[in-house]
Order: sequence, then C-alpha cells, then structure tokens
Amino acid sequence: MRENYTLKRLYNNVALSKGAFIALPKDQVHYLATVLRMQEGDELRLFNNETGEWLGRVTCLSKRSAEVEIIEQLRLPFAVPDVRLAFAPVRKHRTAFIFEKATELGVAQFEPILTARTQFPKLNLEKVQTQIIEAAEQTERLDIPAVRAPQKLLDWLSTQTNRHIVFADEAGKALSVKDVLEKESKDDVQAPTTLLIGPEGGFTTLERDSLRALKNVTPVSLGPRILRADTAALSLLTLWQSHLGDWNEGSAA
Ligand code: SAH
Repeated sequence: MRENYTLKRLYNNVALSKGAFIALPKDQVHYLATVLRMQEGDELRLFNNETGEWLGRVTCLSKRSAEVEIIEQLRLPFAVPDVRLAFAPVRKHRTAFIFEKATELGVAQFEPILTARTQFPKLNLEKVQTQIIEAAEQTERLDIPAVRAPQKLLDWLSTQTNRHIVFADEAGKALSVKDVLEKESKDDVQAPTTLLIGPEGGFTTLERDSLRALKNVTPVSLGPRILRADTAALSLLTLWQSHLGDWNEGSAA
C-alpha cells in the first residue's frame, strides 16, 4: 500500500514540481489553519490531473495565507477511463449523491440532460464543483471529473455521434447489462461510452423512440425492478467499471 496515504490531500490546479513554493487559495488556507489546525512543518499532499500527486510541507501558515514547499512526487498523473455519465438531474440530495458516488466510481465527465419529465433542471454548478473536488480528494483520484452545463436531450444527442450511448431503458425490451458489455468488449471499433439515465418520471415514448432510432445508442435493462435514477446510475457505472473499466487493474496503485 502506498505510504503517505494518511496525509491530507488537496486538489490544486497549478504546475507542481520539486522545490516549487505554492501559495494556497483562501478556502484551503481556512481548511488547513482553522479546520485541520495544521502547523508550519506539517506535511500534506497536493495533486492535479496534469502533474500528478506531490508531497508538500507547510512553510508558512496564518489565518490569511499558507505556503507549501513541494518536496517530491508521489504519483504520476493517472486519468480514469473515458466513461461519461449523462443523467437527468433529480431532487437535490439524490443528485448530490450521484455526483459524489460517480466521482468515487471513476466517471470522467458528467453531462446533465434535460428531458421532458426532468423536474429539477437547475444545477448550482459551483456547489457541484466543490462536491466533486471533495469526493475526488477523499477517493484518492488524481483527476477531477468535468461537469458540463445541462443540455436538452435532443440537442445533446446530436453532438454524441462519436460516442457509444448505453441507454438505461426501464420500459422497453433491452439486452441485459452483461450482454451489452460483453458485446462492447468484443467490438473492435470501440467508441468511448456514455451511460444515459432518465429522470424520476422516466423517458417519454417520443424520447425513447428517438434514442432507439440511433445506431450509436444501445438500450440496456437494469433488471426486473424499477430503480431510482441514482441507484440506476451508480449500478450501471459500477458494472461498466468492473467489466470494461479500471477495476481490473488491481488495488489502488
Ligand atoms: N418513473 C419511471 C421510472 C424512472 S426510473 C417508471 O415508473 O417507469 C429513472 C431512470 O432509471 C429511468 O429513466 C432509467 O434510465 C433508469 N432505470 C430504472 N430502472 C431501470 C430498469 N429496470 N432498467 C433500465 N433502466 C432503468
């Protein structure tokens, strides 16, 4: 198991390199000084998508500012597989749950989708960004998933011709996840996958027909019961990671 993993880790999107001195943003100053009550000389980890994870030492710390000296690199940059989650936002706490859990489950990008029955179209993207950064810090990810602004389903579909959309269709005849993923792993031309989950009210017949008419869309069944959107999103993502994603590369490196 990697040493230092008990040290606090903070996402910091600046070029991290040995010997660099990094001034932390004020929310992280507050966190270190007031919440964690860290002292000068304490160690922590800073990471981002581009330069990976580095050991740092607090060189100066006050209520208003903090500086960290970068000591050595701990992990190289490591991106998650290119699996995206397109979903119709549901009620707030369940949507927050989807963002947190799907970040832990290694989703590369969130694409909120507005469908006819979406009841919660408004997303506070700033709040979402904070949630996913906290989830990424906790889950030892080295990259932060992107979150796109909400898009209407049909507008979004027209921009997805280069993706394989696995569409969780609760109403129609569809293959099992096992069959869809087995087929995907055999196909030589593997377009990167986007998982699509509908709103609490489900997709309309028109939406389902539009989706099923597209050759890059594969309907999938998530079994005989109707799952809540959050359950459906995380179940499908888990199965995808296990079958085709980075859960086959052993424990956290
Ligand atoms: N209100 C709808 C269910 C919506 S569930 C109804 O009663 O039919 C929310 C979303 O989760 C669905 O749009 C679908 O994308 C997914 N989902 C839930 N259960 C599913 C299942 N058994 N198979 C496939 N997708 C499912």
